[in-house]
Amino acid sequence: MRIFLTASSVLVALLLLPACRFGRASANTSAPEPVVEEAPSIPPGAMALIRAYPEFIDSYSDNQLLFRDGSSMVYDDGVAKSYLERLDDADPEDMFADVYYTGPVRVPEYCYDPGRGRCEALFKKMYGSSAAEVRKHLVDVQWFGQKIPFTSVNGAADSLRAVAADIMANHPEMKKYFDKSSSFYWRAVRGAQRLSAHSYGMTVDICTEYSNYWRWSNPGKEELDELEFKNRIPDEVIMCFERHGFIAGAKWYHFDSMHFEFRTELLYYGRE
Ligand SMILES: [Zn+2]
Repeated sequence: MRIFLTASSVLVALLLLPACRFGRASANTSAPEPVVEEAPSIPPGAMALIRAYPEFIDSYSDNQLLFRDGSSMVYDDGVAKSYLERLDDADPEDMFADVYYTGPVRVPEYCYDPGRGRCEALFKKMYGSSAAEVRKHLVDVQWFGQKIPFTSVNGAADSLRAVAADIMANHPEMKKYFDKSSSFYWRAVRGAQRLSAHSYGMTVDICTEYSNYWRWSNPGKEELDELEFKNRIPDEVIMCFERHGFIAGAKWYHFDSMHFEFRTELLYYGRE
């Protein structure tokens, strides 16, 4: 995964570090607590977004994500949302409601779907707000004998290339899981109005033959129904994607085990 450090993120880190150290030191002393003017705190989700997308997001102030082009976006709309509302109308803060974990797949808790809800305004701003705009950033990635289009924005295509190189170097026996992969497709999610992550060109579906999708495995079931969990994608494949900034749909309660999405903010957040 590419790690970006900008002057502003270093500054943010420097602002936060002394506050932590002071906090620990004062616990060991009997002297009266000094009144310290603390730097305004930045929500961990906003910090993760700044670290993940420094080419776009410069900083955070007063509940706003501040973009390098001078625009801004409300971080937390303050609305308490149900699971379905978070899915259809996520603000940046809602994207962190479920914390993504890396490593071997566990059977998910009811409606645990980290990353499945996306703030559409944020992703359209970065990757393009129409099929034509997204297409401008697509480059070809050599992918297990295929050439698939992927966005160069945020280093996503380079990260996908790194996944392929990693698999070939460390798990060549896993090649069969990548046959007939697909990536960019501007469309709504099956059965919903919101855009699929495939619309932004930063998502790949690997071989459907070895994949399970919650709607196919649970015919007639809807979002809030009890589902039977299935996944046949090996942990090695999933962990390889995670090493390079991707999250796996195999970890969702609404499992979509072919689906891998470039979402470094969730990986940074999980590590905070
Ligand atoms: Zn997918």
